[in-house]
Amino acid sequence: MVSPQTLQVFLSQSYNPGPGIYEVSSVKSKGYVCTCPGFASTNKCKHVKYVSAKAKENGGKYPLPISRPYTDVELAQANKSPEDFRKFILLHGRIETC
Ligand SMILES: [Zn+2]
Repeated sequence: MVSPQTLQVFLSQSYNPGPGIYEVSSVKSKGYVCTCPGFASTNKCKHVKYVSAKAKENGGKYPLPISRPYTDVELAQANKSPEDFRKFILLHGRIETC
């Protein structure tokens, strides 16, 4: 699959103006990236830390938390492109607060 790949959406109260919604994606050759202001200035943040820790526990692959059921058809659609996958995560993935 082509990168960047959206993996996790976070709802964060800790930035001003908050709350903010940030996304951690996986980018080939770069690793994880985040859309939060902290990552923009330092290249690291608690969201990326969270995702990499979970991925490490899971043998290197982030275990996508799903909060709403999906069908095989929706899953097949999600694997067609990074955009489709992102839509799938926004619809079915669990939003973490961090
Ligand atoms: Zn972040």
